[in-house]
Amino acid sequence: MRKGLVIVNTGNGKGKTTAALGVLLRAWGNGMRVVMLQFIKHTTARWGEIKAAEKMGIEMIPLGSGFTWKSKDLEKDKALARQGWEICKEKIQSGQYDLVILDELTYTLKYGWLPLDEVLQVLKNRPEGLHIIITGRDAPQELIDFADLVTEMRKVKHPYDQGIRAQLGIEY
Ligand code: ATP
Ligand code: MG
Repeated sequence: MRKGLVIVNTGNGKGKTTAALGVLLRAWGNGMRVVMLQFIKHTTARWGEIKAAEKMGIEMIPLGSGFTWKSKDLEKDKALARQGWEICKEKIQSGQYDLVILDELTYTLKYGWLPLDEVLQVLKNRPEGLHIIITGRDAPQELIDFADLVTEMRKVKHPYDQGIRAQLGIEY
C-alpha cells in the first residue's frame, strides 16, 4: 500500500525547485502521473524545465503572468495567487495524479495571499497515495509539522555573492 508523502524543500540555499524536478523525473520515469504548478516566475524567459516538460509531454503549469516579490501591485499578486491555488486544488482533488508539485507555494503563505488553514486542509484531505512536494523559503512551522519529509537547503556559497549572474541551464 502506497503512503502519500507531503514533502517540503525549504531554506535559503539553492536546490529547492531543482530537487523537486529530480523527483518529478524519477516518478515520471516510473510511469507515474505527475504535474508541477509554479507560483512564481522570476523572468519572462522560458525556463529550461518548462521547455523540457513540453518535449517530454509532462504537465508544467506557470500560474499567472509572472507575479514576483518586486511587484508594486499587491492586490493583483494576491488575486493571481488565489486563482493559482484554485487550479492546484483542482489538480490535487482530481485523483488524476500520483505526484503534484507546488513550486514556490511558501511565498503565498508568507505574504498571507492564501490562508494556511485552507492549504493544510486540502493537503490533509488529498486522495490517498498522492505525493505532494512544496518548495520555497520560509516554510511556516505548521506546514513543517504537518509534512512527512522536510529538507532545509542551507547556503554555503552562492555565485551571486561574487557578482556572478544567473547561468543558463543552472538557474533557469
Ligand atoms: P533552484 O531553482 O535553482 O533549485 P531554489 O528553488 O532553491 O533554486 P529559489 O528561492 O526558488 O531557489 O530561487 C531561485 C533562484 O534564486 C535561482 O536562480 C537560485 O540560484 C537563486 N538563489 C537560490 N539561493 C540563493 C542564495 N542564497 N543567494 C542568491 N541566489 C540564490
Ligand atoms: Mg525555487
